[in-house]
Amino acid sequence: MILLVLNVGSSSIKYAVFDGEKRLFDGLIEKIGDSEFSNHEFALNKIDDELSEKNISVDAIVHRVVHGGNISETKIIDDEILKVIKDCCDLAPLHNPHELNAIEICKKFDVPQVAVFDTAFFANLPRKAITYALPQELTDNNNIKRFGFHGSSHKFISENFSKGKTISCHLGSGCSVSAIDNGNPVDVSLGFSTLDGVVMGTRPGSLDSGILLCLLEKGHSLDELKDILYNKSGLKGISRISNDMRTLLDSNDDNAKLAIDVFVYSVQKFIGAYAAALNGLDTLAFTAGIGENSAIIRKRICENLTYLGLELDDNKNNNNEEIISTENSKVKVAVLKTDEELIMAREALNIL
Ligand code: ADP
Repeated sequence: MILLVLNVGSSSIKYAVFDGEKRLFDGLIEKIGDSEFSNHEFALNKIDDELSEKNISVDAIVHRVVHGGNISETKIIDDEILKVIKDCCDLAPLHNPHELNAIEICKKFDVPQVAVFDTAFFANLPRKAITYALPQELTDNNNIKRFGFHGSSHKFISENFSKGKTISCHLGSGCSVSAIDNGNPVDVSLGFSTLDGVVMGTRPGSLDSGILLCLLEKGHSLDELKDILYNKSGLKGISRISNDMRTLLDSNDDNAKLAIDVFVYSVQKFIGAYAAALNGLDTLAFTAGIGENSAIIRKRICENLTYLGLELDDNKNNNNEEIISTENSKVKVAVLKTDEELIMAREALNIL
């Protein structure tokens, strides 16, 4: 069975074509709307052209869907699932609307479409990890709980380290840290929405809720707050320069340095918290754009983890090797290229 796996973002589409679990090829279209790719339909047509050129006809299209509310199992997309994805747009505005748009466009290919939810891996988190300390009538009536995201990526990491206590750090444009015990997730820093947890490119991570009350009282509208929280905060908000870690690392600006300091500190704090949640740590794994590529950020994050017996091998770290800890380190430190598309293909094959 030939699968086209799509990971659609606001201005990019990552895609991979699988024959069963075998990856045939993949690609990335970036800067949609700001390049020869004027919109997502144009980009998807380009992928279709590439398939035709390669003489490949697809049996199903698999979509990464970030938020599906209470639906986290992989599903064939029908009107009901489309409605669920639509209803969750407010909770994942950087993702769901674009995924929905891609699903609508892909209807013309006339093959089954499958949704693999980012929340799936976290569907059975312990109650103490998913419960927010708010009046429970309120949380029950509004389905407020920790859903967790980046599930396919953390699942990929967990499958590589299925034994022992693992902390998986997905550090890309969106960032999250997850605590995994013998392959079972026990906590994750992203929560009810995609705003929680560690500092991200344009999102702030965990915030004192009093700050939002203050901004509301000062007259900021709901739309303004959404824009601030999803698009103007995080690395971009602190640095006032960029949401892109490479740009900040290349900069001598004090605000860029501060943004990196705050980012590193926020990841360190989650690792410390999750080492406590797991009562120990065997493996610390880094993945996604920053995690896979930035030796300096990995080094800085690991600096305050020597109390766990973690020792980094600088040479291995600088060479982006798969294991970057010393032989004597009590914690194995790993760098893995995440393969969300493979996890998604497997999920889809299970139901097709
Ligand atoms: P997305 O969530 O969009 O898939 P990625 O996983 O591609 O994001 O991660 C994007 C982030 O990774 C950006 O902040 C980018 O600057 C950062 N990044 C990529 N390569 C490097 C590198 N060599 N050094 C530091 N940061 C990097």
